[in-house]
Amino acid sequence: MKVPRRAADRLWNHACSRIEQELSQKDFQTWILELTPRSFEDGLMTVEAPFGLYRDRIRQVYLPALERAVSEAADHSCRVEVVVGSSVGTRPANRRWSPPAGGQETGRKVTSPPLKSFGNFIVGESNRMACDAARALAFGEAGAGNPLFLYGGVGLGKTHLLLAIASELRSRARKVLYYQGEDFTRKMVDALRNDRMDAFRREFRFADALLIDDVQFIAGKKRTQQEFYHAFNLLHGAGKPIALASDRGPLELEKLETGLRSRFQGGLLADLGPLDTELRCRILRSKLKEADLELGGDNIENLALRMTGSVREIEGLVSRLRAARSQSGGRLTNQVVESLVVPYVGVGCDVDIETIVKTVATHFGITREEILSRSRARRVAWPRHVAAYLCRKLTSASLPEIGEAMGGRNHSSILRAVRSVKDSMSGEAALAERINRLETLLGRGSQFS
Ligand code: ADP
Ligand code: MG
Repeated sequence: MKVPRRAADRLWNHACSRIEQELSQKDFQTWILELTPRSFEDGLMTVEAPFGLYRDRIRQVYLPALERAVSEAADHSCRVEVVVGSSVGTRPANRRWSPPAGGQETGRKVTSPPLKSFGNFIVGESNRMACDAARALAFGEAGAGNPLFLYGGVGLGKTHLLLAIASELRSRARKVLYYQGEDFTRKMVDALRNDRMDAFRREFRFADALLIDDVQFIAGKKRTQQEFYHAFNLLHGAGKPIALASDRGPLELEKLETGLRSRFQGGLLADLGPLDTELRCRILRSKLKEADLELGGDNIENLALRMTGSVREIEGLVSRLRAARSQSGGRLTNQVVESLVVPYVGVGCDVDIETIVKTVATHFGITREEILSRSRARRVAWPRHVAAYLCRKLTSASLPEIGEAMGGRNHSSILRAVRSVKDSMSGEAALAERINRLETLLGRGSQFS
């Protein structure tokens, strides 16, 4: 069904506001803002890019994010096709997305640098094995472990490595299927509902490689796992590369079907561990360079020593530095760093709200959409409260920001949720214990409680 152009524009605007959260301001402006929605029909959003190179780059780097954002905005699984625009130059100004007023650099997390490739993946002790294995798979080296199962805590580079594999394979014209675990489920459920399972399966038959990110979100969903098992066997049997990423190893994914577990176990398992200070320093240096920020050597080491978490934390720090620089007239003096940046380092802002919501949803056996919904049923309301509590505790987001990200709720309802969880925890040790375990899963030990 074709929807009117205005509706397509509106959907595109919604999708843009989601993507904007994921990209740096610069990438968002350079790449996404240049796209113009053309039509939306049967779940296919067609957008125009100004010229061919542009289109290729969008396809190569941003397509999964675009499809995810449009699917989320439309509330069902959608595809995005990028074409070179015929209407370039005649584009009405109002068809372009305009960021909401007040959206400035400050406080916006950069979660996605320009292009995830092997070239900009910094290797150290904790991620060398994973990176070597990913390279071997991507370059088709003899004896490469297949399937490759990458696992480790949040923000340590699993998605980066999967995307690097994808981009390497695509540069050699291989057809790569990359799915986030949840999108896989969503797409399958959609196909089932619309009687399109054949088309869904055909996609796998013609793929040259299969990459599934956040496999933990597939575990526990019976039908999805069956379908995934088929896809897996199809590609694996044909010797095509398969890589998976998860926050836990296959043995710790409790609700994983035995067939899948043994398949995963039979491949190469590579974990990404916590970063040591030396690696943190090198990553920080490289991210500062990417962001065109200068900082004295001592400062870099001091900051790296204070940090506790993942690369996400480093990226959060870099955006804070960038914000501090613009607040202080474009110069990052030691004093500015001391007062505006240092106090926030190591207090943890390395998980994002979306990850918390998804992890809590999986933990309670409900969907992300249910958490964000208006339902007041207890099976949904309690997990929602827990998610709000964890967002408050583990991120640097304000109450209104949490409310906004959790389905457009107001700050007082978030505050009530946080209080109710705190109260319940202080009365019930078992409950407190369960929530602490969730925290550990999100990459934050109980030493921060
Ligand atoms: P995960 O999927 O493990 O949660 P990501 O791959 O999303 O983590 O990594 C979080 C961010 O940190 C991404 O922007 C990613 O590009 C960056 N990153 C992670 N590891 C490295 C690394 N070794 N070198 C450079 N950037 C990295
Ligand atoms: Mg990831």
